Amino acid sequence: MHAHTNIVKIGTSVKITVGSHVWVEDSALVWIDGQVSKITGQDAEIQTSNEKTVVANLSKLYPKDMEFPAHGVADMTKLSYLHEPGVLQNLAIRYELSQIYTYTGNILIAINPFQGLPHLYDTHAMEKYKGAPLGELSPHVFAIADVAYRDMANEGKGNSILVSGESGAGKTETTKMLMRYLAYLGGNTVTEGRSVEQKVLESNPVLEAFGNAKTVRNNNSSRFGKFVVIQFDKHGRISGAAIRTYLLERSRVCQISDPERNYHCFYHLCAAPPEEIERYKLGNPKSFHYLNQSNCHELLDVNDAQYYLATRRAMDIVGISEKEQEAIFRVVAAILHLGNIDFAKGEEVDSSVLKDDKAKFHLQMTSELLMCDPHALEDALCKRVMVTPEEVIKRSLDPLGAAVSRDGLAKTIYSRLFDWLVNKINFSIGQDPNSKSTIGVLDIYGFESFKTNSFEQFCINFTNEKLQQHFNQHVFKMEQEEYSKEGIDWSYIEFIDNQDVLDLIEKKPGGIIALLDEACMFPKSTHETFSNKLYQTFKVHKRFIKPKLARTDFTIAHYAGEVQYQSDQFLDKNKDYVVPEHQDLLSASKCCFVAGLFPLLSEETMKSSKFSSIGSHFKLQLQHLMDTLNSTQPHYIRCVKPNTLLKPAIFENANVMQQLRSGGVLEAIRISCAGYPTHRTFSEFVNRFHILSPEVLTENHEEKFVCQKILEKLGFTGFQIGNTKVFLRAGQMAELDARRAEVQ
Ligand code: ADP
Ligand code: MG
Repeated sequence: MHAHTNIVKIGTSVKITVGSHVWVEDSALVWIDGQVSKITGQDAEIQTSNEKTVVANLSKLYPKDMEFPAHGVADMTKLSYLHEPGVLQNLAIRYELSQIYTYTGNILIAINPFQGLPHLYDTHAMEKYKGAPLGELSPHVFAIADVAYRDMANEGKGNSILVSGESGAGKTETTKMLMRYLAYLGGNTVTEGRSVEQKVLESNPVLEAFGNAKTVRNNNSSRFGKFVVIQFDKHGRISGAAIRTYLLERSRVCQISDPERNYHCFYHLCAAPPEEIERYKLGNPKSFHYLNQSNCHELLDVNDAQYYLATRRAMDIVGISEKEQEAIFRVVAAILHLGNIDFAKGEEVDSSVLKDDKAKFHLQMTSELLMCDPHALEDALCKRVMVTPEEVIKRSLDPLGAAVSRDGLAKTIYSRLFDWLVNKINFSIGQDPNSKSTIGVLDIYGFESFKTNSFEQFCINFTNEKLQQHFNQHVFKMEQEEYSKEGIDWSYIEFIDNQDVLDLIEKKPGGIIALLDEACMFPKSTHETFSNKLYQTFKVHKRFIKPKLARTDFTIAHYAGEVQYQSDQFLDKNKDYVVPEHQDLLSASKCCFVAGLFPLLSEETMKSSKFSSIGSHFKLQLQHLMDTLNSTQPHYIRCVKPNTLLKPAIFENANVMQQLRSGGVLEAIRISCAGYPTHRTFSEFVNRFHILSPEVLTENHEEKFVCQKILEKLGFTGFQIGNTKVFLRAGQMAELDARRAEVQ
């Protein structure tokens, strides 16, 4: 990943001289502190605290706050020296003290502790945070949820909490904590049946069983995005909820790489009680192709058998009947058997047959479990119906084609099953049509940049561009509001707008998604023709790069860095296409649950050969999400993964810094730096700096006037005096401290 080059500048006017304590860039630690020993022209020689001598340009140095509080500060905007190294130092100090939460103004930064901190989240903690003003207690997710709840209850309007961060950073755990706290605040005492909040909370284990998997980055990685809108009645009690999910990763169902796993539910089911194993003819995960592509079957500290039972219990609570549960797991078992149907070359050219008796057994099992005709299943896998103007012909597929067809069927069944679960949960929880007071909680994948990046990363990074724009605009607005409230003159503050990246991706016509749809509709397109079209169209686009040597790759300069995409699967992955043979097979299933997953299509949809595009559909979903978010009061939680080992107490500077950059935290700081980053109340200011101009104090003026006088006497310009606070430009606080150090 290419580091974001936009290092936060404080535009400091602090003079760095020999003897100054400074921060200087370091390849291993990102920033290291040291003392200037010599200055030659624009170059400074620094003795670093790890006993090295380095030379750096003066403009690359940041002053070090020598009065940095030993325990750090709970709110980063209170740092006297607001710059990258200061931010990093503060987070590192706090993390070492198990203070995993820190504010940056209203934004909560949460650093994954990778260890249980039960006291932090128990009932006692919830009681403590209830109703406490933000900032009074130590930073916490509960405090954010509490603010959202009070905003919602007092003003009767929608609020949303956006949780972001890279995979394994702690978004889902944070989301669950938020939901638990909101359920605590808005809990009902209703005794009859299951309460709404209980159902809301228990929807998590159900969705996790079917939508989470072990990946390299997280043992319990959510492979879908989720937005839960909790509705409250006029008494502030939970009256309903709606769950929306985004882009489940379909490919995982039939393709995994070592040491990852498939979706948890497959392993849970393989560890089910013996009757079920017998009924579904299951056994060791090793015996199933969809699971044995990886050598990881079991997880440390996770007992699949217990999880199976827990999932069933959670399903009971969210209102999935015993019969439906049986059908759900029957379908899960069927997918495992389906994956074991292997094909061999048939007698005719380019045809395929079942490979052996084992394949026949699994075909039989699949058809029994899905309650469909085994011959029809075999045909649906090995043959394709071709409709030409003259005739309808059945064409055979070669073994490879048949395997692709099989995997396609598995993916379709699984994603329909997942959608069914979400719908069912929504139906069972129920929505409150009268509720205007809502709190939405968004748990969605963060920015991704891997060695190879495909359509999924493209969609994920598109999402993050959208959210980043929302974040920038909001942070910017908040800052301006504070200025207005204090009666400060301000002019428009520039910030990096990513509208150009969004245009590149989603503009209609002409954006990448539109061009991809066009390519998908044109039968002769290949990924080469698609890439060429991109190269031609965006030849001079600032955010689009054709990588040297690449023939079909393209690079987008995202706000968080450049990502090089491999286009070879874009066309296939964009096509939301269910083979009609598969559709016919399963809509004819004797099991009404299975048939229900494949409702008969209307004549019209059948006839129109127009394909439906995953990219465009996703874009619409995203627009809908943004519309919702834009109509609410947002709150942000940025989750940070302190190390890639997933272990407690390890704080890797470079990793953290990169996430703060790509998560927009530094951008938020930069936005505030561009204005008046330091706000101090008059009395705070006078207490700290009267020493610089003691004569002003003796004149016995109003504090406001004293502040102004002190600053003027010292020759400062550009600062502003508000109604209750002094507003200082970036670097001025550091300068004041430097002067204070001189007189003391
Ligand atoms: P994400 O959803 O961002 O990918 P998760 O929320 O699944 O990440 O967190 C990954 C893992 O980190 C969890 O399984 C858990 O072990 C640990 N974790 C995350 N947040 C916390 C927390 N607040 N306290 C303790 N452990 C946590
Ligand atoms: Mg997650």
